[in-house]
Amino acid sequence: MIGLVVVSHSAKLAEGVRELAQQMTQHSVPIAAAGGIDDPENPIGTDPMQVMAAIESVYSDDGVVVLMDLGSAIMSAEMAMEFLTPEQQQHIHLCEAPLVEGALAAAVQINAGGDIALIMSEARHALAPKQKQLAHAIDTPAEPAVTSSSNTVGGETLTVTIPNKLGLHARPAARLVSLAGQFNATLTLKHGTETVNARSITQVNTLGARHGDELTFIATGADATAALKAVQALVDNNFGDRDDSPNGTTPTAERPTIAGDLPDNVIVGIPASNGIAIGTARHLQAQTPEIETRTVENTDSESKRLSTAVIAGVDDLKHVIANTKRKVGADEAGIFEAHQLILQDPDLTDAAHNTIHHNKHNAEAAWWSAVEAMAARYRNINDAYMQARADDVLDVGRRVLRHLAPEQVASLSFDEPCILLAKDLSPSDTAQLDPENVLGIVTAEGGATGHSAIIARGLGIPAIVGAGTGLQLINSGTEIAVDGQKGFVWQAPSAVQLTQLQSEQSAWQQQQQELRESSRKPAITRDGKNIEIAANIGTPKQVSGLLDAGAEGIGLFRTELLFMDRAQAPTEDEQYDAYTQAAQALNGGPVIIRTLDVGGDKPISYITFDHEENPFLGHRGIRYWLENTDLAKTQLRAVCRASAKHNIKLMFPMVGTLDEVQQARALLAEVQSALKSENIAYDTDMEVGIMIEVPAAVMNATQLAQHVDFFSVGTNDLTQYVMAADRGNPKVKALVSPFQPAVLHALRQITAAAKDAGIWTGMCGEMAGNPLATDLLVGLGFDELSMNAPAIAEVKAKIRTIDSVKARGIAAHALTLDSADAVTAYLKGSNDDER
Ligand code: PEP
Ligand code: MG
Repeated sequence: MIGLVVVSHSAKLAEGVRELAQQMTQHSVPIAAAGGIDDPENPIGTDPMQVMAAIESVYSDDGVVVLMDLGSAIMSAEMAMEFLTPEQQQHIHLCEAPLVEGALAAAVQINAGGDIALIMSEARHALAPKQKQLAHAIDTPAEPAVTSSSNTVGGETLTVTIPNKLGLHARPAARLVSLAGQFNATLTLKHGTETVNARSITQVNTLGARHGDELTFIATGADATAALKAVQALVDNNFGDRDDSPNGTTPTAERPTIAGDLPDNVIVGIPASNGIAIGTARHLQAQTPEIETRTVENTDSESKRLSTAVIAGVDDLKHVIANTKRKVGADEAGIFEAHQLILQDPDLTDAAHNTIHHNKHNAEAAWWSAVEAMAARYRNINDAYMQARADDVLDVGRRVLRHLAPEQVASLSFDEPCILLAKDLSPSDTAQLDPENVLGIVTAEGGATGHSAIIARGLGIPAIVGAGTGLQLINSGTEIAVDGQKGFVWQAPSAVQLTQLQSEQSAWQQQQQELRESSRKPAITRDGKNIEIAANIGTPKQVSGLLDAGAEGIGLFRTELLFMDRAQAPTEDEQYDAYTQAAQALNGGPVIIRTLDVGGDKPISYITFDHEENPFLGHRGIRYWLENTDLAKTQLRAVCRASAKHNIKLMFPMVGTLDEVQQARALLAEVQSALKSENIAYDTDMEVGIMIEVPAAVMNATQLAQHVDFFSVGTNDLTQYVMAADRGNPKVKALVSPFQPAVLHALRQITAAAKDAGIWTGMCGEMAGNPLATDLLVGLGFDELSMNAPAIAEVKAKIRTIDSVKARGIAAHALTLDSADAVTAYLKGSNDDER
């Protein structure tokens, strides 16, 4: 008889569905549940081994239908298949039907003796009765907020233009592939004439899609609309990229041109990570083991050996990701998240398994030939950045190889400080290096955009790549110096050269120290007024490096990003963890959490918004939030719990009326009293503020100020609403300037009302990070400015040059001017005078 397997992240859910299906079929159908993982602390998840065991327990040659809930459940089911023999695999059918309804329909049909095609079809259409019954309750579906979308016979489509500067490079591609994995829908991606599977990292990467290119996504399956909405949200979020260069320190990717003769003992490479290191050379031997091809008889067991090594590789990567996040940074850890996707790419694993079965090759040889073929695909892309990704594929390949042939593992720990010389260094190897012992890195191959170069920069190790074969002539033990900014390697420098290098090294170290110190110094005007400088973030991942960038707190945590790019809303615990993580990273500095600010203009895949003619004037921000009390209370509980031990403040967006403030405060009081009765701690004095971004709030500022602890001005929205000009429409760009006189008058009204009520005023719109506006904002009386991290050092430096009496004069004069251009010209002039 055909068997049924129910796979869910929750053991209880899987078991519950099994029980229900068995009851409906009087226990006559073989049904197995594979839910949760074997970790009492964190039992939610899916485990390929468990799925495989469940399949085997109901397996017969009649076939097995497998139903899964979301995301990794699908990946686990696919991986479980790899453990089965090809013969067995032919009888397993992964079905994209909804879990509960699908399982019941499938079980009933199995019991009735239907064949596989009928069972699958019944399961897929299992939602139809419910949809028919509730047709009256189904709202007109919201138009997905897409650049262009349509329903075609082949599925729903979405066409977008790539917004981020670097295009669909490794990390945005990884984000897209992870997102695709969260939906049951089949998602393909068309770029020009090529169409690829959006779940294959290699296929997506090798598209070579760049900024401005058009992409068409085609989704088929039950949750196709939701998948496309999530893709749109990811695109709107710039594919998760920040287009600003982190600190301007990324070295040029070119080999430097040299003016004049260089001494004979200098090798020139490509600058990859700034800084000067002087130390003893140490060669690192090649990391790729020699692979022998053997013929095997038992191809099934060889295939299993490979699957086990791949799973071990995925496990390793989990540790590397956690360590890299701790030691280097979340952005750099993203490199290894992409490695995980490469490792789970069916293009790679299928190719290796096929070689085992068809050519009867041993696992090592089959694996390595698949890895090399995939690396070659990257090398053939006409884009230097993507070509460098071939190294990532090889790195991933070596990781698995180490599990297949452990004797080949090389150690990367050094007893003595040294400068490492290598043909090339994988990102994994680089991430393992200890900057205490590895003073510098020089590689013969590689480019400055290679991931090992990025990690070296994150670790602060001076590095040069692409220095050529001349490196082999340097003996281990020779004294060398590395200038990571110029790209020079000095072999056995003379006494004169050494003195010069040492003095450049200490000047460089001092400069770095000063930069670090000055960005961390407070922003105090010449006459002693302290302006608090904070950062805007969207996810806790962005907190790494904020303190070094000079942030004293977080002035705007845009929580909607926690809700995007996923299949369901984050739980209270997930939100609590995110808020706590951000607060911990700020070492006691204040963290202002803005409640979910969504609406028709900021779509979230699993929230259905009614179609609105004018989403910017519609059901967004606090308007939506107040009407979705379950979601609002979950968020408030998480914020309040985080406030027990951290300096947390709460802020409501898009407030227009006093009634909204009162309703929001009432909800907060309700949540706080529930927490109290549950004996859960929270900060009873947590400050509660509002964003001022709606003209009504400006006009009502005097009244609103009586009911809140602070104002934070969102100039992005305030400008668009004051000027009635869409902030995203280039045609009205000139109107959307915060230097418009009307906006300046609004700002003055806000700070005046706050001052009268004795509350403080901040600004978290983009204007806060514009150094041209700094005098004006100080003069208008802002107490806090919150901005994107890269802007902080310059704004702080600017504040230190300001005298607040003079700044008040600048603000007063700016308020007399009659156009945005006149204000801008005046501020530029007064800036030049200060210099
Ligand atoms: C603003 O409107 O200025 C603001 C900071 O909010 P957002 O940009 O998230 O709408
Ligand atoms: Mg806003």
